[in-house]
Amino acid sequence: MSVLLFGLVGMLLGSFLALATERYSLANNYREWLRYLLSPASHCAHCLHQLRWRELIPGISWLLLRGKCRYCSQPLPFTLLLLEYISSLLLVVQYWLIAGLEMQLWMGSYTLMLLLLADIDRRYGVLPDILTLPFLWAGLIFHSLHNQLTAVDAIAGATVGYLAFAFLAEGWQIVRGSSGMGYGDVKLFAALGAWHGWALLPEIALLAAGLGIAGTLAISFFHKAKRNVMFSRQPFGPYLAVAGWIIMFIKF
Ligand SMILES: [Zn+2]
Repeated sequence: MSVLLFGLVGMLLGSFLALATERYSLANNYREWLRYLLSPASHCAHCLHQLRWRELIPGISWLLLRGKCRYCSQPLPFTLLLLEYISSLLLVVQYWLIAGLEMQLWMGSYTLMLLLLADIDRRYGVLPDILTLPFLWAGLIFHSLHNQLTAVDAIAGATVGYLAFAFLAEGWQIVRGSSGMGYGDVKLFAALGAWHGWALLPEIALLAAGLGIAGTLAISFFHKAKRNVMFSRQPFGPYLAVAGWIIMFIKF
């Protein structure tokens, strides 16, 4: 029963994350983004027709509508469905692997934040401060409440994570004369340091880099303009997010 509940909550929250990502592009600042999360009501991006409740049931609506708007027949974004199912799947896996409701809430928030960051970075190439900074603080608060790590390890994790990636970003800028890594990645790595401690940072960085190489090769394999993908700047946030998520399951 509980596992079903986790799956359903995952669908619902995944649907909200998709809305949050979609509306991020409309807002000029964080306050506006918050306002856009509340209104207008969900509608088709093409014909602006407001969707009825039947067309908003997470995980089902997209399939019932066969991926097309009922009014203008334009395709509905497939990522909406994907995000709903990924979020649901992650929460269900987490339900099986992690004991205790409080821990599940902490880890569920961790998972969903990484999913939101990954999707926003994938689509827009940014990791907003309004998400990465509270995420970092949440890691420090988590360890101060649950003593999984000492406060020193968690703070050192945030500091070392920030400095290591800032050093890489600045070094690249000096050597290559172009920005290879944004400060969004720097802050996300610092946040992962706060959650996992300084000692796990090399593993997270290596895992993310490995996933990044595999991901870029896979994308370029399926992409027509192969060379462009290989040599264009790819968002690194999604790979950091997946690495952070794998490490959570191995270590917690
Ligand atoms: Zn439409």
